[in-house]
Amino acid sequence: MQDKWALEEHLSTPENNKLWDDSGEAARNGKRYMDYVDSHLLDVDERIKIMDATGVERTILSLTSPGIQSITDTELAVKVARDTNDLVKRNFVDQRPGRLSMFACLPTQDGAAAAAELRRAVGELGAVGALINGYTNVTDADTARYLDDDAYEPMWAAVADLGVPVYLHPREPLPVQQAIYAGYESLVGSAWGFAHETATHAVRLMLSGLFDRHPGVQVILGHLAEGLPFLLPRLEHRLDKQQDGAGLGTARRKVSEYFSDNFYATTSGHFHTRTLFNTIAELGVDRVMFSADYPYETMEEAAGWFDSSLLSANDARKIGRENARRLFAGIA
Ligand code: ZN
Repeated sequence: MQDKWALEEHLSTPENNKLWDDSGEAARNGKRYMDYVDSHLLDVDERIKIMDATGVERTILSLTSPGIQSITDTELAVKVARDTNDLVKRNFVDQRPGRLSMFACLPTQDGAAAAAELRRAVGELGAVGALINGYTNVTDADTARYLDDDAYEPMWAAVADLGVPVYLHPREPLPVQQAIYAGYESLVGSAWGFAHETATHAVRLMLSGLFDRHPGVQVILGHLAEGLPFLLPRLEHRLDKQQDGAGLGTARRKVSEYFSDNFYATTSGHFHTRTLFNTIAELGVDRVMFSADYPYETMEEAAGWFDSSLLSANDARKIGRENARRLFAGIA
């Protein structure tokens, strides 16, 4: 397929690289792999060459995890988000109009500032939505605020008003919540911890009543929805039994209804056909979209798998291109 769209494709900037100490990541994931990733996060020309070679017409770029969400100084987070969005527009999107688009990064340390930056990035820079790297550190590396917090009402109102999606991207679990990975540090990140962390975050959104207040809000999950197509039916089954229990949230509908109406899944980093079919079975073929997770994954592996994944031609068109074009109609 020659004109695919890809949505979970990452970048960084030299300025952002200075903010994060990634030595732990290099130790866990292997230095050779992380050196490859780091060099490709900054690149434009090589990216386009790879897109040409793998039949990808457009990619939507986003700042790599943990991004703005890990900055514990609110004022700094607001400034870095703004500078990064300006720079991504100038150094990436404007270099290849029609081939590269951008998700804004947002200073989620302050809900009103996140709303303002989303409105600016969409209105002035042409961002097609926002990508948020999970929870936000509020005062230090062991504090977390999730997106169902009341502080985010202005941001979700802006999302609903602008009609743009939010990509909920993983980050590693809080350091104080990593005991279960002791001795198996390679599991903390994308191999396992990412899915557990992000699936739980998505369930918080479903239970919080967010989608009752804003029924049009659309959230995109990567990695074939982080295990939720398989796990959500049991969650719903058990919550039905616990109806007089505590901590059920305030949502008016079943989690499966929000999943069907308010979530999309991408194929990023999860190139397995039977899991893809399960995701289609739970979400519907209109809510699944192709992505790679470049440069953590190669576009060659993602596209090679997708192009030979036994989908019907009609389903491949939808997942590879048309669903994204419909979701971003008028904005990309
Ligand atoms: Zn990713």
